[in-house]
Amino acid sequence: MPKQYALLGGRPLLAHAVAAFEACPAIDIITVVIHPDDRGLYEAALPAGSSRLTPPVPGGATRQESVRLGLEALAAARPDRVLIHDAARPFVTLEVVARVLAALGTHDGAIAAEPLADTLKRDGGGGVIGATVARAGLWKAQTPQGFRFGAIHDAHTRAAAEGRDDFTDDAAIAEWAGLSVALVAGSARNFKITTAEDMAMAEQLLKPATPAFEPRTGTGFDVHAFCAGDHVWLAGVRIPHDQGLEGHSDADAPLHALTDALLGAIGDGDIGQHFPPSDPAWKGAPSRLFAEDAARRIAARGGRIVNVDLTILCEAPRIGPHRDAMREAVAAMLGIDATRVGIKATTTERLGFTGRKEGLAALATATVLLPA
Ligand code: MG
Repeated sequence: MPKQYALLGGRPLLAHAVAAFEACPAIDIITVVIHPDDRGLYEAALPAGSSRLTPPVPGGATRQESVRLGLEALAAARPDRVLIHDAARPFVTLEVVARVLAALGTHDGAIAAEPLADTLKRDGGGGVIGATVARAGLWKAQTPQGFRFGAIHDAHTRAAAEGRDDFTDDAAIAEWAGLSVALVAGSARNFKITTAEDMAMAEQLLKPATPAFEPRTGTGFDVHAFCAGDHVWLAGVRIPHDQGLEGHSDADAPLHALTDALLGAIGDGDIGQHFPPSDPAWKGAPSRLFAEDAARRIAARGGRIVNVDLTILCEAPRIGPHRDAMREAVAAMLGIDATRVGIKATTTERLGFTGRKEGLAALATATVLLPA
């Protein structure tokens, strides 16, 4: 298969190149010159077409002749400027196209090019260096190569009339015709795909950068009933109150919801699975142990906690005066900065069990980054 129809990221190279020019508002007409036998491949490569894409033009025996035939097909539309591009350069960018077009404001022609970085050697025969060629002032020509349409059309017509068919690019024909052709910065990405190795490099460039971490979100919810007592534990803070909270541990509902949110974010069960209420070891235990355990499980997976957010639903006690202490306490047990901890409270407008002060509820959300 001709390389311009070879698939790159599932799309023919030609389709990539055409899409690059379709993305450029300054381009009015796009014409592809194809081998006369490749009509089927062309139609498969550009099935939808676009309003700016004209029917393909059958090319000639050489690259030079194909370009001349393409220019002749465009002549009826009387374009002001023309860009000639190689379909095997799929990574041409809007910036490169814009630089070539801009240089046509002051020159007959302009080509994208890159200064040569490698030292040049001339083979002296038998694979042995004969000479080192000075590289100063040498550039590698890329495409697009842009020209004032009339000037390059005339140059191609004259070259054909004089039997010249040895030019390797359009700038060479322009130089031969005495036109002034500017060198503008191309791009290393705008390389020509010629070999299988080039194609493999192009496939690598197309791959989206794999993120090192992926975000995970978990949620938690918990309820505890009020009972006789003189304090409650909420988000790791002991708050004097005219009631206590009933529970096997210290009944810190916000920390239980938080623990479930952290475990949920990494898909590692729930608090009841890791700390069963039937286990006497957790009788009266401080609930920070549960949150700390969840944080350790995240660390063991190579993850880190981005933020946690807690909402406490109750009529009393008032949470506001303790908010900062709660943020500091939660931050310390999770090993994160307090700016990553949200504590909020709301009443439920005296509705439901929280409104009747039979108990309180807590909601939690946690965002965790895990290695992808
Ligand atoms: Mg609980």
